[in-house]
Amino acid sequence: METVSPLPSLDESSTCEALMEELRRKVREARSAEEVDQIEKAYRFASDLHLEQKRRSGEPYMVHPLSVANILADMRMDGVSIQAALLHDVIEDTSVTFADLRREFGEEVARVVDGVTKISKLDFHSAEDRQAETYRKMLLAMVSDIRVILVKLADRLHNMRTLGYLKPEAQQRVARETLDIYAPVANRLGMGKMRGELEDLAFRYLEPEAYAEITREIETRKHTNEETLQAIRQKVEAELRREGIPARVEARVKRAYSVYQKLKRQRISVDQVYDLLALRILTDSLKNCYAALGVIHNEWHPIPGRIKDFIAIPRPNLYQSLHTSVIGPHGQPFEVQIRTEQMHRVAEEGIAAHWKYKEGKQGPAEDDQRIAWLRQLVEWQREMQDPGDFMSTLKVDLYPEEVYTFTPRGRVIVLPRNATPIDFAYAIHSDIGNTCVGAKVNGRIVTLRYALKNGDIVEILTQPNHQPSKDWLSIVKTSRARNKIRQVINSAARAQAVEIGQKYLEKEARRLGVQLAKIPRQVFEEIAGEYGCSKMEDLYAALGYGRFSPRQILQKAAPGLAPAETPPEKPTAEAGTPSAGGALHVSEADFAIQVKGLDDLLIYRAGCCNPIRGEAIIGYITRGKGVAVHSRNCPNVQKLLYEPERKIDVDWTRSAADAFPVKLTVHTADQPGLLNQLTSILSHENTNIRNLEAHTDTESGDGAVIEMTVDVRDKKQLEKLINAMRRLSGVRDVERAS
Ligand code: MN
Repeated sequence: METVSPLPSLDESSTCEALMEELRRKVREARSAEEVDQIEKAYRFASDLHLEQKRRSGEPYMVHPLSVANILADMRMDGVSIQAALLHDVIEDTSVTFADLRREFGEEVARVVDGVTKISKLDFHSAEDRQAETYRKMLLAMVSDIRVILVKLADRLHNMRTLGYLKPEAQQRVARETLDIYAPVANRLGMGKMRGELEDLAFRYLEPEAYAEITREIETRKHTNEETLQAIRQKVEAELRREGIPARVEARVKRAYSVYQKLKRQRISVDQVYDLLALRILTDSLKNCYAALGVIHNEWHPIPGRIKDFIAIPRPNLYQSLHTSVIGPHGQPFEVQIRTEQMHRVAEEGIAAHWKYKEGKQGPAEDDQRIAWLRQLVEWQREMQDPGDFMSTLKVDLYPEEVYTFTPRGRVIVLPRNATPIDFAYAIHSDIGNTCVGAKVNGRIVTLRYALKNGDIVEILTQPNHQPSKDWLSIVKTSRARNKIRQVINSAARAQAVEIGQKYLEKEARRLGVQLAKIPRQVFEEIAGEYGCSKMEDLYAALGYGRFSPRQILQKAAPGLAPAETPPEKPTAEAGTPSAGGALHVSEADFAIQVKGLDDLLIYRAGCCNPIRGEAIIGYITRGKGVAVHSRNCPNVQKLLYEPERKIDVDWTRSAADAFPVKLTVHTADQPGLLNQLTSILSHENTNIRNLEAHTDTESGDGAVIEMTVDVRDKKQLEKLINAMRRLSGVRDVERAS
């Protein structure tokens, strides 16, 4: 859309009262007395809050919200928008909260102000070109009330008009953001006038030389062609009158930025732009638009291929008009735009014009309709710009609930509905995803299952060397995250399986008295082949995963092997996996537990359940940490069993020398002598106390909590101890912590 408005003055000289008076004049015409009162109230409220603040120009701060309100009043926006405009900076700049605004001005005003505040907090300047489209879509998707965008656009327009007061870097940043984000959004909303002014203001700061040259050229041409244009205009008016077509004829000058784009696009010079000057005919009806077109073509020769009927086929943002270019009296071409007054209003004000027509009878349903219309605009526009994007447009249509989330530095990450922080982490970088241990959304810790929402600012907490969990596969929503997780899990699991498989084979060989070094490598390679493995590594992996037992391999490698000295191999009942064979002797050495006769294989008791002798246990081949031994009742083990090939049978040895540290928590009444009674039970059982701490029970307030770590031989002994403690009067409960 090409529209014209005079360049704004950068000199803001009106006082607040004068601006308020201007606003009163505008709203009294169009709004109810009640709304005018509310606007007065918002003015006083905001004035008090911004009293001490000054703009960079040195003017009172209130000049800004008042100017924004005036822009919206010119667009004949409703009372809510104008109140929100007056209040739009109070949440951000003062101690006023959303709740305060809701109490004073109602839900709608508070929500619009809150929405504007949220958009202001977004940092678009890190946006790459590629992301601009995303930002624009996101702006529209984020708000449920379009007035948020309208207030924001008016806010930006006034800031652009007064941009001269900012430092040069800030000018560049704000102007770039305006050109990349806000002007296109205004265009999407059909707001030609707003878009034009935002573009020209931004252009002026971003390309000062080109701007100066083009405006100079436009001025010169305007003067030299003034007479011709006036002559044509009078002729048109006379012809239209003769035909009985009521019309208003305007001379228009193309916008500086729009000329600049045309120069760049067509690689031409300014004097080759023939629609720099043009006429616009505004009439009353659709029929008269076509009639006027006939009059023009009757008088001057149309240039073939330059007639465009945007009435029959409106532009995606609902712009309607007839365009034609004709050869003027002295052979110079000029453009004529013909439309109705109503089409003109829509062309200039877009959704704001639409808003007005619906005035007075809007319910929530109509609101929804308006938003749907809006979103559709966004999609249509995409489709028009790049047919290749049609598929992705379609996709967005089918799943309209994409979520737009942000990195703490303001980058937009678009994810499918219900995506989680893990998806977000992988969308940034696979290393971030792999090492993700937690997330903060809008500053608060959330679980990794949290469903992200529009506008969430997501910070991923990472820990070096952390590995993705298999559980994540059932949580994530993006295929990118799923593939990356699988990749890591598979490669880590395989590396571990290879290592375990090799050690496992070596251990079994030692136990059975087979000297592996004496068996030629070729023999093993043949065996690997028999098992469908192309190389030894694959065979080790298969052993590590428990697909075959080392005995099967060894019997093939050393056929003379007497199987009698060891118990026969039997598959376990649950999963049919081969047993690790023999009894594993588990002893503690820090956190790592070594197994006698299997000295390379790392075995440790799992911290979650800390099993002790006598309890049913099960081994699980972890990724990179050896074999974890869990109690069979351990809830974690149930989760781990989804991968039965990593399960390994283990058993306790008969050695009497071992002791297992167990943590106990004893809840007692605050009763003298009780601690002595407890320790005497322990010494009677010959148990060593590693650590003991007593403190008052902060939960119940009247008792004590005794935490101790004691060495127990086995499950039987532990049960005996706990029962003895429970029998003491004054002991309320004994819990095994781990
Ligand atoms: Mn502002």
